[in-house]
Amino acid sequence: MTGVKVAIVGGGPVGLAAALFASRAGMHPVILEARDHDGDKACGEGLMPGVMPLLKNLGLDPPGRDLLGVSYRQGTTQVDHLFPGAPGRGVRRTALVEAMRAETDRLGVDRIQARVTGVTQDAAGVRVHCADSDDVAADYVLACDGLHSTIARQLGLVARPSRRARRYGLRQHFQRAPWSSMIEVYYAGNAELYITPVADDTVGVAVLGPKGTSLEQTIAGVPEVRARLHGAVPASTLRGAGPFPHRVRRAQVGRVLLVGDAAGYVDAITGEGLRVGFAQADEAIIALRDGDPSSYPRRWRAVTREFRLLTRGLVVLASSPLRRSIVPLASRVPRVFGVVVDRLAR
Ligand SMILES: Cc1cc2nc3c(=O)[nH]c(=O)nc-3n(C[C@H](O)[C@H](O)[C@H](O)COP(=O)(O)OP(=O)(O)OC[C@H]3O[C@@H](n4cnc5c(N)ncnc54)[C@H](O)[C@@H]3O)c2cc1C
Repeated sequence: MTGVKVAIVGGGPVGLAAALFASRAGMHPVILEARDHDGDKACGEGLMPGVMPLLKNLGLDPPGRDLLGVSYRQGTTQVDHLFPGAPGRGVRRTALVEAMRAETDRLGVDRIQARVTGVTQDAAGVRVHCADSDDVAADYVLACDGLHSTIARQLGLVARPSRRARRYGLRQHFQRAPWSSMIEVYYAGNAELYITPVADDTVGVAVLGPKGTSLEQTIAGVPEVRARLHGAVPASTLRGAGPFPHRVRRAQVGRVLLVGDAAGYVDAITGEGLRVGFAQADEAIIALRDGDPSSYPRRWRAVTREFRLLTRGLVVLASSPLRRSIVPLASRVPRVFGVVVDRLAR
């Protein structure tokens, strides 16, 4: 395939958002997605309030359950924060990806099933190499290929793993009517347990922790959640993700821009990812529309700065002996806790 303005590698939520932004900017993007699947992935599935206007602008209204705030819990201590404006939404990944794919189809975006093995570029364009299918020649490439980005690795952009302990995520759904309109976050032992309502009869359960963390054992260690989920039938298979953090040295090399998790991911502890991924996609397309890909690293830093700083800070705290003080401290200064949640949820 030749004559493509922008080839998007990876048809996850960020790649799909990039395609929608590109399409609206008149760029006729092509998405190359390795897997023929329903888009499911280990994720807490909480769309923060800041994501909702962005989705609306893209013509998207995926089904789910309103999220009114966040409730942090540890033992008998609890601190709740209600989002000040419109709610967020708990949305199954499959429902989000389905809605996004439908919109790309409506706009006539080409989606090709192809596993990309790497890219080569010169002053005139980029060649995207695919396993078992023809190469694609494009003016620009957006690498939206996730945490284990083939393109970031091939371009030698992946930074050495930090010496900090690496963390992993797991998630599974259970058939149970949601008992709350908040995202519940339980600090349990050395793992965090997230409960997100995603449908009238389904809750998503995600856990974050060091290697070897078990979803079943983490649930068993939190009496409140154990009781709520007692006898509940699993509504999805157990999925895992990680390790994090994933760091890259820079988010752009020539005509290739890294976007979303591919450009670096700190941790899921703040229940973020999609909002910053969509913001990066928006900035990447603006940079290409302006014919100035080299402006992207600056734009990337600006839209990810708060997420990186706050998430890193919280992970450091959660991995330190002060871990046990996080929720009690937040409950003593609920306003500060609220400000941090709101900064991340914007
Ligand atoms: C446990 C956990 C909980 C989380 N909770 C939340 C939450 O509550 N809210 C939130 O906003 N975020 C959350 N996140 C983060 C969020 O899931 C990610 O930030 C988000 O999925 C990033 O989207 P992406 O499109 O960049 O990458 P992905 O979703 O990973 O998509 C990448 C796509 O690229 C494709 N691909 C990969 N390699 C190739 C290749 N070589 N060729 C072609 N295609 C390829 C893959 O098949 C995939 O479809 C959580 C993450 C974890 C792990």
